[in-house]
Amino acid sequence: MSGKTSDDARRKVLKGAAVGLAALASAGRSRAETAPTQNGTLPPLMDPGKLHTAGPFKSQPQPWPGLASHMTPRPDHGEKTYRGSGRMAGRKALITGGDSGLGRATAIAFAREGADVAISYLPQEEEDAREVIQLVQAEGRKAVALPGDIRTEAFCQKLVTDAVSGLGGLDCLVNCAGRQHYHESILDLTTEDFDWTLKTNLYALFWIIKAAIPHMPPGSSIVNTSSSNAYEPSEILVDYSITKAGIANLTKSLAKQLVPKGIRVNAVAPGPFWTALQVSGGQPMSAVEKFGSTVPMKRPGQPAEIAPIYVQLASTDGSYITGQVFGVTGGTGVPG
Ligand code: NAD
Ligand code: MG
Repeated sequence: MSGKTSDDARRKVLKGAAVGLAALASAGRSRAETAPTQNGTLPPLMDPGKLHTAGPFKSQPQPWPGLASHMTPRPDHGEKTYRGSGRMAGRKALITGGDSGLGRATAIAFAREGADVAISYLPQEEEDAREVIQLVQAEGRKAVALPGDIRTEAFCQKLVTDAVSGLGGLDCLVNCAGRQHYHESILDLTTEDFDWTLKTNLYALFWIIKAAIPHMPPGSSIVNTSSSNAYEPSEILVDYSITKAGIANLTKSLAKQLVPKGIRVNAVAPGPFWTALQVSGGQPMSAVEKFGSTVPMKRPGQPAEIAPIYVQLASTDGSYITGQVFGVTGGTGVPG
C-alpha cells in the first residue's frame, strides 16, 4: 500500500470511528463500548463533554462497599482503552482500593505501563478484585491480591509486608481506599460513623505510609487521593471532607520531609467520578440519578479519565513534582 493510500485508509477508519462514537455518546453510551482498540488506531478527537455518558443514571442502591461489576452502566476503568508505553517498566506498586473505581483504573494503567501491582480491597469485593487480578496478569505482570480491612494498624502493617514479599520490593504506593457516607445532618452523624471515616481515610493512610517508607528506595513515589470536597466541602459530607482536607495537607508536609529520602509525595483531588462508592451510601439516590450534572462539563468522570495522572505522578516522568495536589474535576477549577 502506498503512503497516500494508507493515509487515506487511516483517515477513513478514524472518520468512521468518530461518527460512530459521536452517535453513541449522544445516545448516552460510554466510549469504553466502542473505542477502537486495534494497535495504532488513536481515539478520535471529540468534545470531552460528550466522550462519556451524562446520565441520567438509574436508581441503583448497593450495600456498602458496593461492586463496580453491579453498576449500570459499568464504569469505564480503561479495560478496553488504556494503552501503555513502558513508563513504569519494572516498578512495584501497592494500590489500596485497587479492586474498583479510581484504584482499579490505576492498577490497569500501571500494569499496561509495565509495573507489577498489588491491590488491597475488602473481602466483600472479591468479585471485582478477581477481574483486576486477571487484567494485570493479562499484561504479563505480577498481580498480588491482598484482601482485608485497613481500619487497624496491625492489618496495615501486614498489608505492606505482604505487598513487599509478593512484589519483591515496593517503589510506589497509591492510597486510593476511602470511605464516603453521607449524612444530611451532623446530628445523625454518630461517633461510630465519624470514627469509621477517619480510620479508613486518615489513620490507615498514616499507618500504611509509615509501614511503606522503610521499604521504598530513592526514586519511589506516593500518590494519595484527596477530593474536591477538601476545598469545597459538601454540606452532607462533613466527616469525609475533613479527611480529604487532611490528606491534601499531609501530602504537602510529607513531601517536604521525604525529599532527603528521594521519595516524592503528591495527591489527586477528583471531582465526581462514576464509582461504587457513590452508589453504596456516598450520595443520596436522588443525587446519583443526576450525578456529575453540577460541574461545568455536566457529566461525571469515568475512572479511566483519571488514571493517566496517577501514572504521571508515580513514574519518573514526574521527577520534579512533589507536594502538589492535582484537581481532575470536569471544570470546577478546584483546587485553584
Ligand atoms: P470505590 O468504592 O471504587 O473505591 C474505594 C475503595 O476503598 C473500595 O473499593 C474498597 O476496596 C476500599 N475500602 C473502603 N473501606 C475500606 C476498608 N475499611 N478496608 C479496606 N479497603 C477499604 O470508589 P472510588 O470513588 O474509586 O474511591 C477511590 C478514592 O477516590 C477514595 O479515596 C475516594 O474518597 C476518592 N474520591 C472519589 C470521588 C468520586 O467521585 N468517586 C471523588 C473524590 C475522591
Ligand atoms: Mg470496591
